[in-house]
Amino acid sequence: MPAKIVLVEDEQNIRDTVSYALRQEGHQVTGYADGEEAWKALERRLPDLLILDILLPRLDGLELCRRVRARSESLPLMFLTSRDEEFDRVLGLELGADDYLCKPFSVRELCARVKVLLRRGVRRESEQRLRVGALELDGPRHTARWKDQAVRLTVTEFRMLQCLARQPGVVRTREQLLAESFPHDQYMSDRTVDTHIKRLRRKLAAADPAFAGIETIYGLGYRYAAES
Ligand code: CA
Repeated sequence: MPAKIVLVEDEQNIRDTVSYALRQEGHQVTGYADGEEAWKALERRLPDLLILDILLPRLDGLELCRRVRARSESLPLMFLTSRDEEFDRVLGLELGADDYLCKPFSVRELCARVKVLLRRGVRRESEQRLRVGALELDGPRHTARWKDQAVRLTVTEFRMLQCLARQPGVVRTREQLLAESFPHDQYMSDRTVDTHIKRLRRKLAAADPAFAGIETIYGLGYRYAAES
């Protein structure tokens, strides 16, 4: 299925080779050599898939990834990295990249990975409706239900709950919760997360006094209880 792909890579020969190969597969590819310029375009419109180099002029790939993830958690995203960027590569996956390729890579390999990511992307759209135990979250509608009772949440509260419930049993740091709940607002603090979590708990407890789904993990962050 043809997709709109944005490729941000400052090395022109890589950009040209990759663009050419993906166009041969029927995709529409827009290339950018500069992070800031790419962000201006991405801010207006997100593609179906994003391929990011890490070291870029003006705005690096990791920051681009952070900003894009604040907008969309489901957009398939792949990093292109150099071997000496091992640390960044791990960080990239923590930031929510779906895949990475080390340079030099084969274009055939890249096309194969793109195919997998696009397929997974379609599947993830439907996963935006999330059901974890007694909790039901409808991503597109931003509605939450606990034991079939509607719980009215603000958009931020909804996003935080979604971020937690998507990975039951996994600790999410305040930083991760912030990044996923506020579209790159730099003025939010860790305290803000605590305030929203407190409200979330209060609202869920109003629906069910026994609710204990959101656990505090001291010194780390919060976790959605796997068994709730
Ligand atoms: Ca580069």
